[in-house]
Amino acid sequence: MKRFLVLLFIFANCTICFSQTKAEMKREINDLKLMIEAYKQTIKEKDVQLQSLRDEYVNLQALMAKIGGILSIDSVDVAQTSNVPAEKKEDSVMQQCKAITASGTQCSRKAEVGSDYCWQHKKTKVTSGSREIYTGPRGGRYYINSSGKKVYVKRKK
Ligand SMILES: [Zn+2]
Repeated sequence: MKRFLVLLFIFANCTICFSQTKAEMKREINDLKLMIEAYKQTIKEKDVQLQSLRDEYVNLQALMAKIGGILSIDSVDVAQTSNVPAEKKEDSVMQQCKAITASGTQCSRKAEVGSDYCWQHKKTKVTSGSREIYTGPRGGRYYINSSGKKVYVKRKK
């Protein structure tokens, strides 16, 4: 009988223990639920931020397209006005030499009238097929490739 009571006591204790852990678990689950809700809220906020960034990006793209449109319209205008001889002269005088210098930057001299190059670069420019071959200050011959870099041409002996 005593043994039974002891067993009952242990059992009762265990039940209390278990119900306590159950209550704790419930509280923890509630905490977790709250945390999940908070995360969900954060994700929603980030979504909104992302959406606004996307909108900005789209706006920027539209702006770039507009700028591109304006630039191409400008070049068309120049082409149209260049039909007038007096204006063509002025445009050419103002143009910068298109040659690339040894340091890799565009030549800062003004291009000669009716040419895309200054007096120095005009002299060294030779058209060979579709390429324009330049002669450097040390006698090296090169052309400018599509990415704007100098490519030296081996001399034929
Ligand atoms: Zn030049």
